[in-house]
Amino acid sequence: MDLEARLRKFMSRKGILIVLSGPSGVGKDTLLERLEQVCPHIQRCVTYTTREPRQGERRGLDYNFVSEEEFRSMIARGEFLEFARVHGHLYGTPLKEVLAIREKGIDVVLKIDVQGGLTVKQKVPEAIMIFVVPPSLEELERRLRARYTDKESDIKRRCKDARKELEQIPQYDYLVINDQIESAVDNLRAIILAERARIRDDG
Ligand code: 5GP
Repeated sequence: MDLEARLRKFMSRKGILIVLSGPSGVGKDTLLERLEQVCPHIQRCVTYTTREPRQGERRGLDYNFVSEEEFRSMIARGEFLEFARVHGHLYGTPLKEVLAIREKGIDVVLKIDVQGGLTVKQKVPEAIMIFVVPPSLEELERRLRARYTDKESDIKRRCKDARKELEQIPQYDYLVINDQIESAVDNLRAIILAERARIRDDG
């Protein structure tokens, strides 16, 4: 391949895959909304879940809400890049969508739990792994309660699960503390811009 062609190949490569994990209530949704405003080249992959929609959640935009039966058929057809049971419900990332977005040169963000994150890392070793933490566990519980959308038993379960999730931080590449939203968004943007500029020969 001549130099001109090689240069074109590097410049027109597919989008990167970004895994964004962190305990429930840490503010990943808000961070992502803000990030999408300052990084037009990223797109969140809408995932599937068997949990009930919360008030205000939009089908096909926040999640694809499906029955446990539908979810199991999708597993059987091999339609998930990864899936996991999180806080008692099934969640899964559709493989086809991830591939299609990346093919367009757009960076895909997967807002998924640590089990799913580790599966993605195994299957797609070049995935960029980012973990978002709250300034403290007390603050996390306060944010979960301020959401007013979960039952007390769900809040307790999510607080307990958070401790287990934090143990997986060493498996991730980057840590972002969501204390002040502006600075957390700045950090995420800096990570993504640097990773986009990284020289890779992955076509
Ligand atoms: P929530 O029910 O609060 O929307 O999400 C609960 C947890 O499930 C969050 O940590 C969220 O990131 C994670 N999650 C959402 N979609 C997926 C997915 O497709 N796969 C996995 N493994 N986790 C997901």
